[in-house]
Amino acid sequence: MDRTEEPTASFATRAVHAGTAPDPGAGSRAQPIHATAGYAFADASEAAARFAGDAVGPQYGRMHNPTVDAFAARLSALEGGVAGVAFASGQAASAATLLALARPGTRVLLSREAFGGTFALFRKWLVPWGVAVTTVAPEADAVAAAMGDDVVAVWVETIANPSGSVPDLERVAAAAHAGGAPLIVDNTWGMGGALCRPLALGADAVVHSATKWIGGHGAFVAGALVDGGSFAWDPLRFPAFHAPDARGRTAVERHGGAALAARASDLGLFTIGATLSPFAAFLALQGLETLPLRAARTCATALDLAAWLEAQPAVRAVRYPGLPSHPSHATARRVLEGGFGAVVAFDLGDAVAAHRVLDALRLVSQVANLGDAKSLAVHPWTTTHAGIDADARRAAGVFEGTVRLSVGLEAPDDLRADLAQALAAGAAA
Ligand SMILES: *Cc1c(COP(=O)(O)O)cnc(C)c1O
Repeated sequence: MDRTEEPTASFATRAVHAGTAPDPGAGSRAQPIHATAGYAFADASEAAARFAGDAVGPQYGRMHNPTVDAFAARLSALEGGVAGVAFASGQAASAATLLALARPGTRVLLSREAFGGTFALFRKWLVPWGVAVTTVAPEADAVAAAMGDDVVAVWVETIANPSGSVPDLERVAAAAHAGGAPLIVDNTWGMGGALCRPLALGADAVVHSATKWIGGHGAFVAGALVDGGSFAWDPLRFPAFHAPDARGRTAVERHGGAALAARASDLGLFTIGATLSPFAAFLALQGLETLPLRAARTCATALDLAAWLEAQPAVRAVRYPGLPSHPSHATARRVLEGGFGAVVAFDLGDAVAAHRVLDALRLVSQVANLGDAKSLAVHPWTTTHAGIDADARRAAGVFEGTVRLSVGLEAPDDLRADLAQALAAGAAA
């Protein structure tokens, strides 16, 4: 292991070093892109040993790629995990994680403010398959009240989209564990661990859409799972982790505690084939190297813009956990480090006003993505959240007049000027 992967190395140092070393071939300092589907074995017995798991080395490109594995290892080092697995998208990471945990007859507690795609995974696949889902407020009391013997996972997000609410992860983890279930945190908004490391707060695993702040430039789609290895998998409730293989070893034994990562990789990569391309993995590694700087800059600009928006007469409400007016502010101060995220939601009263202001923006693009170097805005009511029942939308903090702004790397004054002229144009129309 590279010295810089040790937990004592600071986050910024790990962000540029962990998981990679100069290439032993040409000595490339940047991580090479291994564009290959297969790997040459030294001889037939070496091939057999790799397939049996007795020799370390890749078998085939669907399951292993050095560039992809370097990205997963670096992200795992940043999150403080035991093992990481990269996937073709955030959705693929979530799907593989849920498939690894749930079986027909089991139940998952899902935050009512979870990402729409996570709800779609349940609606389109897990529920018809026989997995029940209970939507809960992402709070310890609500989790404790909904807990039962059939619950195999509790799933929350670090910062909810777009309401900005921040769960008290330590208390939610304690409630999940008291009921015998692992806590899985979608830490996409926690920016690869730059703002929050849920594993250190008691979560058992985190998933990411690396499409957002990890990539940081809106240039590709990717996802990952990081396993904290902390959960004591109960053999009765999680038989898949304890079933012996042909050699009499269980997944837990084979993978040094990273049984969830092993199982999710088996299902998501080996079986389903939701494999990340090495080209995207290279870009994701590049993204991680500047992540601490981008996180600090975008969070500072977002806080500045949120406070400014709150003082504008056309703006009815601003939801940003960095503002003292946000109900999660006190929790956010404890759970988030170094910033409150780069997304500001603000209300303009109704959909017509929101569309008018969005259409007047010049610097900020209307794009349904987050975490780009360029600032992006959408009207969630008629785009990202349009498929959700109106009452559920309001419960999740999405109203007819809400605009969601993902703050980029532009000069803060230029962004403020663009918002000011758009608000003025909206008021004049
Ligand atoms: C975007 C997003 C996802 C899904 O990730 P993709 O890379 O788009 O598949 C999951 N969770 C959150 C919180 C997201 O913002």
